[in-house]
Amino acid sequence: MPITLSADKLTAAEAFAKLLVPGRKVCLTTHVNPDGDGLGSEVGLSHLLRAQGVEVVIANPTPTPARFGFLFRDLPKVDRTSEAVKTLRTADVIVVLDIADLGRLGMLGGTVAERGVPVACVDHHVSPGTLPPGPRYVDPSASATGELIAEIALANRWPLTREAARALYVALLTDTGGFRFSNTRPRTLRIAAELLEAGIDPEEIYLEVYANAPVGRPRLLAEALQTLVVEEKPGLAWVTVPPGALERHRVTVDDLEGIVEFPRSVAGVRMAMLFREMSQGRIKVSLRSIGSVDVAAFAKPYGGGGHVHAAGVALDGTLPDVQAQILDAARAYLATIPRG
Ligand code: 5GP
Ligand code: MN
Repeated sequence: MPITLSADKLTAAEAFAKLLVPGRKVCLTTHVNPDGDGLGSEVGLSHLLRAQGVEVVIANPTPTPARFGFLFRDLPKVDRTSEAVKTLRTADVIVVLDIADLGRLGMLGGTVAERGVPVACVDHHVSPGTLPPGPRYVDPSASATGELIAEIALANRWPLTREAARALYVALLTDTGGFRFSNTRPRTLRIAAELLEAGIDPEEIYLEVYANAPVGRPRLLAEALQTLVVEEKPGLAWVTVPPGALERHRVTVDDLEGIVEFPRSVAGVRMAMLFREMSQGRIKVSLRSIGSVDVAAFAKPYGGGGHVHAAGVALDGTLPDVQAQILDAARAYLATIPRG
């Protein structure tokens, strides 16, 4: 079955392309602690736009994790994250990828808000946006923002080059947990097939993303898993990153990717959490769920968000206080949801 797009999507994709034309300096950005989807979407869109003769740079609020550095090997000088504010100030158009919320742009939020240039957005989160005006291409049913970039390319008949396909495949691969999560739809696999047909090597990409880790990554995993607590009755499980563990193992927050899947993997668990201290007095909670347990809704009253089965929130307080508060709220929330 061919990949078809609704009339609304075709219109949105065309509006997007009309804004991103040669002669305009385009700057792409994504959320703090960029992941495979944010970076893969940026790099994929960079290749697609460059092939159309458009000048494009990337400026993110926090640096590219080492595991995604390979995406930039054939894009020299495009990642301007080290001078992000300056780069955003000279852009004619800003494109925000994989988030629709100024708050998640970290220290770049203020600059994006006040620039007065069009701010386009491609995103798949359920949370409503707070960005300045510009074209939108938003679909919460998409597995990854990278899937939406591929749709924009197909709608505009931009050729999917091998370089663009490789980056977009990273986006799909990482946001679907290797095509395992509930967001893996027929359309996701059809788009993945298009990417493979562009000539990419899935094993090479797998090895870059998941088998090129610093030794501290498995050591940190071992330490974090020691903290696992499972409460059978509510179906709640969590792990805690011991304060200072990232520094001790010489790794970054990117190396925590996937750890929250372990508490979720226990039979009967409906909601899983990973707690970590971002800085003293600020705690990050990663949330995962299954079935009818909606962690995006759970996170909302605390200013967090994300997707139904994968969300996050950052709170002020000490680790024990935030943990006690969130766990109590989770027990109360789970008590309202019958087991399916
Ligand atoms: P992770 O737990 O992997 O950091 O994030 C899982 C999902 O939740 C991602 O889609 C991410 O965008 C979203 N998310 C994580 N942290 C936050 C947060 O502090 N605020 C909001 N609104 N979303 C978050
Ligand atoms: Mn994403």
